Amino acid sequence: MGLGTHIWQVDPERPAYDELQPAVQVLRGGGLVAFPTETVYGLGADALNPDAVARIFEAKGRPQDNPLIVHVSSREMAYSLMGNSAERPLLDRLARAFWPGPLTLVVTAAARVPRRVTAGLDTVGLRMPSHPVALALIEQLGRPVAAPSANRSGVPSPTSPEHVWEDLKGRIEGIVAGGDCDVGVESTVLDITVTPPLLLRPGGVTPEALADVLGCPVVIDRHARAPASEKEPIGPVRSPGMKYRHYAPRTPILLVEAGDGHVERLREVVGAHQAEGKRVGLLVTDESALALQLDLPTIRMGPKSRPEAIARDLFRNLRAVDKLKVDVVVAEGIDDAGVGLAVMNRLRRAAEARV
Ligand code: AMP
Ligand code: MG
Repeated sequence: MGLGTHIWQVDPERPAYDELQPAVQVLRGGGLVAFPTETVYGLGADALNPDAVARIFEAKGRPQDNPLIVHVSSREMAYSLMGNSAERPLLDRLARAFWPGPLTLVVTAAARVPRRVTAGLDTVGLRMPSHPVALALIEQLGRPVAAPSANRSGVPSPTSPEHVWEDLKGRIEGIVAGGDCDVGVESTVLDITVTPPLLLRPGGVTPEALADVLGCPVVIDRHARAPASEKEPIGPVRSPGMKYRHYAPRTPILLVEAGDGHVERLREVVGAHQAEGKRVGLLVTDESALALQLDLPTIRMGPKSRPEAIARDLFRNLRAVDKLKVDVVVAEGIDDAGVGLAVMNRLRRAAEARV
């Protein structure tokens, strides 16, 4: 494809009305615009225009059965997309606590939501993002915006305008460039059409925070913790996106899960691959980099004590893996607690094998 892709620089904190108008006009005309959210960059289209939505799948090379999240700028806009008013009280409760923010709520879809958006499901994922640019863009358009992550399907999600450019230049009309994303992993997806609500994808809002507001522990879909590998039969998957290998650099990643004696296991796995004559790289926490003292190409993930920092830089670090120019990267797993669950969900799906 040979579209000229515009880049519109905007103030990430206070985007001016005029700065956003060119992007709004593209969306109004059925075009595609990438924009920053607090989680990752999104690839937006008018959610109520089926042809525009179809172009998202084409630009990303996204499988047709993987539904899109619809972004709204008000609770009223969310209501207008819901097909079952009995779900409103629970949506209200969660929205009061977490919207705007990195929580997607799966609800029964209204008839006006195009099938292309939901990939044929009778539910739709709704989110009100907190990023000032995302909110202003939706508000100025005055319509909901369907937006998956603005990457080519299968590779790590973009957390900077440069990542979007690498993946989608020439395939979309424009990029609203507003700096780096804060959260760094995608939104938490919670299905509220079932009782109790089911966490389909871990993300920026932790299960612990959800449990506080719901007043009960959150049920976590098993694919959210340990993704289906290509070898293992996957059975029915409630959240279609969870069945794809994802976030994967070209260089194979071997993931060493957190646990007792885990620094020694990292050392063993490295040694075993070096014995086979392979060039080995590391993707490890700051603490383990220090403890290992190995003279190898290394990406530091950040301090173990700050999983939010590890989350924020995760996709940038996964994109850097191929630049290490090694045969295999040994990656360190962190604790599943808090946002660590979201980090591990991404790392497990990026990994070729787990130890
Ligand atoms: P992305 O937009 O790339 O962050 O992916 C959106 C993900 O949200 C999908 O891959 C699904 O896993 C999930 N999702 C979106 N809509 C639904 C829905 N109606 N039911 C279940 N999961 C959904
Ligand atoms: Mg995605």
